Amino acid sequence: MTTIDTDPDTGLDPLEFAVTRNLTAKSNADRDAILASPGFGQSFTDHMVDICWSVRGGWHRPRVSPYGPISLDPAAAVLHYGQEIFEGIKAYRHADGSVHTFRPDQNGRRLQRSARRLALPELPVPYFLQSLRELIAVDGAWVPSGADQSLYLRPFMFAKEAFLGVRPAHKVAYYLIASPAGAYFKGGVKPVSIWLSEDYSRAGKGGTGAAKTGGNYAASLLPQSEAYENECDQVVFLDQDRNVEELGGMNVVFVYKDGTIVTPQSDSILEGITRDSLLQLARDRGHHVEGRNVSLTEWREGVASGDIVEVFACGTAAVVTPIGTLKGRDFIDEQPSGTLALELREELTNIQYGRAEDKHGWLYRLDA
Ligand SMILES: *Cc1c(COP(=O)(O)O)cnc(C)c1O
Repeated sequence: MTTIDTDPDTGLDPLEFAVTRNLTAKSNADRDAILASPGFGQSFTDHMVDICWSVRGGWHRPRVSPYGPISLDPAAAVLHYGQEIFEGIKAYRHADGSVHTFRPDQNGRRLQRSARRLALPELPVPYFLQSLRELIAVDGAWVPSGADQSLYLRPFMFAKEAFLGVRPAHKVAYYLIASPAGAYFKGGVKPVSIWLSEDYSRAGKGGTGAAKTGGNYAASLLPQSEAYENECDQVVFLDQDRNVEELGGMNVVFVYKDGTIVTPQSDSILEGITRDSLLQLARDRGHHVEGRNVSLTEWREGVASGDIVEVFACGTAAVVTPIGTLKGRDFIDEQPSGTLALELREELTNIQYGRAEDKHGWLYRLDA
């Protein structure tokens, strides 16, 4: 196991992971072939991490094991009532070979907030961080070194108790798996077209919109199919008052003519760490940033009048995606194209890949 001291904030001692090596791990040649063109979410590393939780025993039996199928009782609560949460975070290889991740404390705290909303136990942030380091300790060679490549880390937690009664499960599992990821946009960043979902919403007031939970994604799949049928790449969701929420898995940001940056903020929107970081970089450049409601009318009129000069979406997987078109049942609004989104994207990825100074202390080394 990696050595970590007692956590100064929580007083927690590090967990002692039992490590079982994968005896059929990919050969260097097979791994290199995958890393040459990894795509997204298709291939997985040789190992995974899991930690059990029970009402009686708390967090226990931390393990690093060969990657493989999970055995679950057919009555496991997650399969029936969807008590599940997840995270998404990347590991980046720097030019000197070292491996870093980006603001993992934020993901650890968001996993705790999601857990609270889904009545799951809160994994202490030091355990979350340790799980990332443990996986990199055995699978560090899976962090690719090509341009815009990364190792996508997928922590998740679910109710595994075999019980069909409806209540928070008494047995839960936390897992971490990892999947090498190629450049999201092959041949440069392309603006996306967005379908305005009028018939479906992704979240409601007091619902689970601010939690990273599979159910939100399940609810977004049908509207996403509607987007494809209408030749759009992604969906944008509105709230009950016709304010803009977000895409199925990315936050939305508006840039105004006077340099002001506005992003929808409400308790039904997932608070993206990419968005938070881009907005900090924008503030560093002197932009005024507002988190507030943005109605569909404000968006459409702002574009028509020239008040809004750029619209983009952001999230860990794609980082920043300019929005090129907004399409509704009876309109198509071409979106203005600007340069700020791509400048901020470049600035952020330069920090993540170690090519620019990390002024905010966002990087966290995983392999030392
Ligand atoms: C994960 C996610 C985002 C983006 O969050 P990041 O921390 O920037 O990756 C946005 N919206 C939803 C619904 C998400 O699940």
